[in-house]
Amino acid sequence: MEFNLLTLCYLIGSVTFILGLKMLSHPDSARKGNLVAAFGMTIAIFGTIFLYQEDGKKLGNYGWIFAALVVGTVIGTLMAKKVKMTAMPEMVSLFNGMGGLCAALISVMEFQHILEFPGRNIEALHILIIIVAMVIGTVSFAGSMIAWGKLNGKVKDYTFKGQTYINLILLIGIIAYVGWFTYSTPADGFYEANQVYAFYGIIALAAVYGIMFVMPIGGADMPVVISLLNSFTGMAAAFGGFLYNNQVMLTGGILVGAAGTLLTILMCTAMNRSLKNVLLGSFGGGNAASGSSSASGGNYKEISLSDAAVVLSYANKVMIVPGYGLAVAQAQHICHELEKFLEDKGVEVKYAIHPVAGRMPGHMNVLLAEADVSYDKLLEMEQANDEFKTTDAVLILGANDVVNPAAKTDPASPIYGMPILEVEQAKMVIVNKRSMKPGYAGIENELFFQPKTSMLFGDAKAALQNLLGEMKNL
Ligand code: NDP
Repeated sequence: MEFNLLTLCYLIGSVTFILGLKMLSHPDSARKGNLVAAFGMTIAIFGTIFLYQEDGKKLGNYGWIFAALVVGTVIGTLMAKKVKMTAMPEMVSLFNGMGGLCAALISVMEFQHILEFPGRNIEALHILIIIVAMVIGTVSFAGSMIAWGKLNGKVKDYTFKGQTYINLILLIGIIAYVGWFTYSTPADGFYEANQVYAFYGIIALAAVYGIMFVMPIGGADMPVVISLLNSFTGMAAAFGGFLYNNQVMLTGGILVGAAGTLLTILMCTAMNRSLKNVLLGSFGGGNAASGSSSASGGNYKEISLSDAAVVLSYANKVMIVPGYGLAVAQAQHICHELEKFLEDKGVEVKYAIHPVAGRMPGHMNVLLAEADVSYDKLLEMEQANDEFKTTDAVLILGANDVVNPAAKTDPASPIYGMPILEVEQAKMVIVNKRSMKPGYAGIENELFFQPKTSMLFGDAKAALQNLLGEMKNL
């Protein structure tokens, strides 16, 4: 490979992607990691625009290219500034879909290129890469759009009897179709009209498969599916890198593909579910809500603000359990203030972080980092479970499923087997939420009815503000 300025740009791009990804794995360095990778991407994009040459000719079309860059940059920046933390999975899904669409369009353009300039020797492998990238990109695009619609409530779960088998038949059909197309491709690139239609037929089938694949998956499993689709987009981009012999696209695609796959596995492990169960289980949609099995009902007791203030102020050790409700209420800053106040009074305060608390991986870490909560105070689930025994009071803020004992005790529960925060081992548990309504899995939580537990009703932000006020008056 000839080493020139463009290769250097691609090298910088590839190295910064790897460094950026590494930095993303820690909240302290995540923002910088994002910027480092974006810097590398900028170098790679401008390197391609100004330095890439084919048969001695530069890209040209600068007006179109820069108009598209400006439109994309403005839309992306506005969306990123406006998005609420709780709507982040939706946005990731939308952006991921766009990545899949790009990968599919690259394949379409590459095929058009072959049609426009026939007579050259076409290798079967080249065609295979074009079609596979197109199929994966299209599945990722169509699937991500459905996931986006489901997360913002515009698309409802839809299943029918035998859907799994139909999906399987569709998948086998697409693979066979791709095999036939590759095998029958003319070595000189002179395609018959029906072969050209067949190419577009594969796109249509892939789009139908993408929709059918995501349609039956339950709402609570959407982040796992988005992560899986993310890995598909990465793979499709990596195939694009192969096609153009473009190292930075190849590296970027492989990194996205690998990261998406690892995240999918990690999330499944955190929920103690197999990928098959996620894809076929329909968890967290209408089914999960109606599949409630642990309805213990019974009496619960409430705690007043002043009593809660006394309990927390005179404890030696308090563990805060943040959940989705904390994110909705945007109560992270007041929570940090309360933590500092207690620490100043000599109370040891820590946070117990469940890996799937909230609505996306790392949700609680990002939220608390935003409020400047020290990273050393965040305990992972295993560490927290070891420390509950020595904790005087647990303060649960808008968390529900991740502290539900049914995951350990009730084999009929949809969350059975999911590792949970074992808060009931502490001396006392205070739960803040607005009502007795269930969490995302749609099931009742017997923790709320246990003698150790007291309910502190109200919006998390308002409740914490009032609680802090009471503590200051003690
Ligand atoms: P849950 O959805 O189980 O519970 C959140 C609770 O917050 C609700 O019960 C709600 O009760 C309460 N709440 C809502 N708004 C407020 C508010 N303004 N103030 C106070 N409380 C509020 O959340 P968890 O974090 O415990 O669990 C996450 C769920 O999401 C799990 O089921 C998990 O499997 C799922 N999930 C998470 C993924 C991830 O990657 N993080 C991925 C896939 C699924 P009320 O309405 O009474 O206030």
